[in-house]
Amino acid sequence: MSVEDRFGALGDERALAEPRWGKLGASPRDLSQVTLEMGNLAGRSTLWTAAGILVPEVMEELAQVGTVDGPIEVHIEARPVQQEGRARVRVRGHCRGVMRLSCVRCLVEFPLPLTARIDALYALGPDPAMKNKKWRIEEDLEFLPDGLLKIRHLVEEELLLALPMNPVCVSGCAGLCAGCGVDLNRNLCGCRATASSGPFAVLKTLQST
Ligand SMILES: [Zn+2]
Ligand SMILES: [Zn+2]
Repeated sequence: MSVEDRFGALGDERALAEPRWGKLGASPRDLSQVTLEMGNLAGRSTLWTAAGILVPEVMEELAQVGTVDGPIEVHIEARPVQQEGRARVRVRGHCRGVMRLSCVRCLVEFPLPLTARIDALYALGPDPAMKNKKWRIEEDLEFLPDGLLKIRHLVEEELLLALPMNPVCVSGCAGLCAGCGVDLNRNLCGCRATASSGPFAVLKTLQST
């Protein structure tokens, strides 16, 4: 069975229908330092696959937003494809993990499970659009001048996109009192009657509807 038979032609989305998580086992492979060498992949007809974890310590971009709570699980495949006669590498898969974020309303830290799909198309070499403006810019195609792709960078990019703009601990979070700063999820305070203005008044309105 050829690679095309198993995974369909470029653009066929069937393989993305449902993430297949599989089992990682007791001591999963650590993919934290794994780099895909696209130059090696592009000349082959075989599929490269891996399942494993990324350790929180290497997720530097996510650490700017919150705390990565435990390892990130990754299932990934890379296969050479042809697009208009040019060699590309398509990388697909899925990843999941848990982030600890600060609620924008009450500032309490809470765990948020995250899942993201990976589907990216790569070309080897420098981006021709940088040299020649007549080249049409190909959407969803990334150029790798050195042909190297760190799995952790790709996964981190996808998880960052999966993060909510304004994380809230629960959808009905009452937030902090604009008057005294008390956490209204846990306590009542004496200034509720006068808290109809101020930055948190809008949240109160949202909460009561
Ligand atoms: Zn909250
Ligand atoms: Zn108050």
